[in-house]
Amino acid sequence: MPWPAASALLAPLAPWFEAVRRDLPWRAPDLDAPHPDPYAVLVSELMLQQTQVATVVPYFIRWMARFPTIRALAEADEDTVHKAWEGLGYYRRARFLKAAASRIAAEGWPGDLEGLTDLPGLGPYTGAAVGSIAFQWPAPALDGNAFRVLARLLLIEGDPKARAAELRGWLVPALEAHGPSRMTQALMELGATVCAPTPACGGCPLADRCRARQADRTGEIPPVARRTPPKASALWLLALEAEGHLLLQAPAAKGLLAGLWRWPTLDAETVPATPGAPSLIAWPGWTQVYTHRRESVSPLFLRVEARFTAADGLRWIPRDELSALPLGKRDQRLRDLIATPGQRPLEAPDPAVLTRACAAPSA
Ligand code: SF4
Repeated sequence: MPWPAASALLAPLAPWFEAVRRDLPWRAPDLDAPHPDPYAVLVSELMLQQTQVATVVPYFIRWMARFPTIRALAEADEDTVHKAWEGLGYYRRARFLKAAASRIAAEGWPGDLEGLTDLPGLGPYTGAAVGSIAFQWPAPALDGNAFRVLARLLLIEGDPKARAAELRGWLVPALEAHGPSRMTQALMELGATVCAPTPACGGCPLADRCRARQADRTGEIPPVARRTPPKASALWLLALEAEGHLLLQAPAAKGLLAGLWRWPTLDAETVPATPGAPSLIAWPGWTQVYTHRRESVSPLFLRVEARFTAADGLRWIPRDELSALPLGKRDQRLRDLIATPGQRPLEAPDPAVLTRACAAPSA
């Protein structure tokens, strides 16, 4: 069945959004004008990738106080930027944001969607979101929430992402008719709050025209993608101190935890636990969950007498400088633990094994 015209079908979204919209620190009051601060839109959209609104709000406020302009961010050093992002996860976004700010500071804002999409870390979805919300360009932004709403509304079989180009073309007249910023945010809001994976159709402004609802198929549209189970691992997470210094892994340039300082880790499968040594302190472990992996983490603290030549990539950091370094969530937990009293471990690796693992191979 052909799709009805988007501008008429989606018309109830505009008054619904006016009534329910939340007052968010990056949201402009006037949804018909270009946003007074496109940089605020850029920051919010990068932060909102993979993170809930409630978590983002305090980070956004602190970020804008710390880096109030594109230029302030472009001129900041990487450790400061990562430190401001600490706890928000997916740290690539912080590096992308800084790289995008550097390009905009040097060349100005791109004048079209292609230029925005081409900025580091943006891509088709975020480029369109910034284009429509910051500049009022009729660029449809389709994230997972928007795809779910449209799949149900139009009764699209299979993965709606496969029809992304068609859906974008179909949406353009609706953005032109009702305002790009308003429609983009309304569609996102509906997907986030009403047309959630389990939809609350009773409160939906599109309920009278939703084909999935009419066909009683909201539970199966769109189909849920099967995820590969995360890889499991177990590790010792070690804070090793000597002469008022702590041993940390310097940030990697690439990968999941790029830009972040880390505690040394040892594979718990290959480094066995023995009856606890008195020089070690341990705390109860926890499971750290990442997108594709689950780590069973056992935190340890060991103080040795003298600093030794550390293995490649490890650095001795003065203890009072630790709080200024950007650490990921897992490593922040051990940083917090070493400031609290621990307990003697019943079972932990031999301290000599831990120290050897962190030392440079002897010549
Ligand atoms: S009626 Fe239900 S399934 Fe359809 S768009 Fe609204 S919330 Fe989603």
